[in-house]
Amino acid sequence: MCGALFYDQVVVYEDAIKHNKIYEITNARITPLKPEYKTNESGLDYQMTFNNRTIVQLVDIDDDSAVINYHPISHLPRATDYSEMFDNVGIVLFVEEHSRQVKTSKNKEATVREIVLIDHSTTQPLSISVWDELAEDDCTMLIPTPGKFRTVRLIALRVSKHKGFSMTTSTSTVFIHSPTGENAESLASWMTNHQTALTQLQARLFSVKLPLGAERTNKISALRSKKAKTALQDERHWLDVTIPNAEFHKINAYMGCSKCGKRSSIPPGRTYTCDTCSEPDCTSVPKVTFTFEISDGTGSLLFTAFTTTNENLFRMSAADIFQMKHTDDEQTFTAVQELLHLNSFRVQVGPAAALSINNILQWVVKQVVIDGDDGNASKKEATEKVSAQTETVNTSKELQPKSDSSLNHHAGNKLANPTVPATEAVTNDLAASNVFVDTTNLAETKPSGNADMDLPLAQLTKKKAKKDKAGSPSAHPS
Ligand SMILES: [Zn+2]
Repeated sequence: MCGALFYDQVVVYEDAIKHNKIYEITNARITPLKPEYKTNESGLDYQMTFNNRTIVQLVDIDDDSAVINYHPISHLPRATDYSEMFDNVGIVLFVEEHSRQVKTSKNKEATVREIVLIDHSTTQPLSISVWDELAEDDCTMLIPTPGKFRTVRLIALRVSKHKGFSMTTSTSTVFIHSPTGENAESLASWMTNHQTALTQLQARLFSVKLPLGAERTNKISALRSKKAKTALQDERHWLDVTIPNAEFHKINAYMGCSKCGKRSSIPPGRTYTCDTCSEPDCTSVPKVTFTFEISDGTGSLLFTAFTTTNENLFRMSAADIFQMKHTDDEQTFTAVQELLHLNSFRVQVGPAAALSINNILQWVVKQVVIDGDDGNASKKEATEKVSAQTETVNTSKELQPKSDSSLNHHAGNKLANPTVPATEAVTNDLAASNVFVDTTNLAETKPSGNADMDLPLAQLTKKKAKKDKAGSPSAHPS
């Protein structure tokens, strides 16, 4: 069967998929293939396409490390049931200065602290969420002195979707501070021979984790030239952008649940208990999703914005946008178009979760800041989730976002809490949506027994390609 990469994916996957290697591919889409696009007569009449849920992992058939239950970072399974436990030996790059109190999904207080490890198998460091008493002395002992490295062995870790791909301690986890054995010794000698590279990686990690100075504005072209192997999952960049070509048909305005945004047929004014979020006292309110290209003159990124962001961009209420859309009021939209074209705003972008999962680099919007038209200080887009992706994926018609997609869980709390990053308030309603959401900043979920399996299945994808290039239905790579 033929596999096909589209647009940016061709570049993005360049280092992630190599000729003659064996990969386990999970969550790829299989679609019928038109005969004219067949490259191999004996191949199946189907093709495999990749989206933001797709996991591509190298299968190293000569590797026997699985037998002894020790896993180099790159071999840890990205697609798993989250109940399996793994042992890791790694080099400590970073330890969060202090433990933090966080609320778990069950609204209980928990203590967590992040440590970051690396080993010989990857350029992408592994983040580990360390919980409860392990977050204290065991972590403090690991705080690295710059330029000096040490190994640690962690027993009984689980994999997690936090930050795309990371690990989390379990109730059985044990820290071994002076690991011995063949794996630990070979990693220690690798560490001795790679001090310079490790120092550089650590410096990059520190600059992302503990940024100094003001936030500088970057350019899309500069981000595009970055490679996955020198990008870090937590890095963020600010861009000054406009929307040069807003298109009316890319506005999707509908009535949805006031709590979770799920499309609703209940008439406005009546309260109901929502089937999707199970919250009582929901009402139907106007919701707006809008997909467009943001540009800073050096390049562009595709971005899908949700209700609150759109209200700020359009300088209109969701109700007015709804009205404009459903009365085909192109005249009003022309004025909006002009506004979007002329007024710049700031977006914060970072790597999509695919960096830690597949080691591929795609930039997605994490946060939007729009200056008020009254000249007030900029409002930080807060409680609403934003999502975006670079123009990847493909042009297959069936991959268009379905019209009932909606993510406006917090649209009612417009700008209520300006300190909350836009992506943090992610809830299970994402699972019902068809819009790509980057899960990089999902709130940490504390494991308790198997309870950490209730993570939102958030990365539902289906995003339309950057342009409807006329004449290229289900375009095939040339
Ligand atoms: Zn709801």
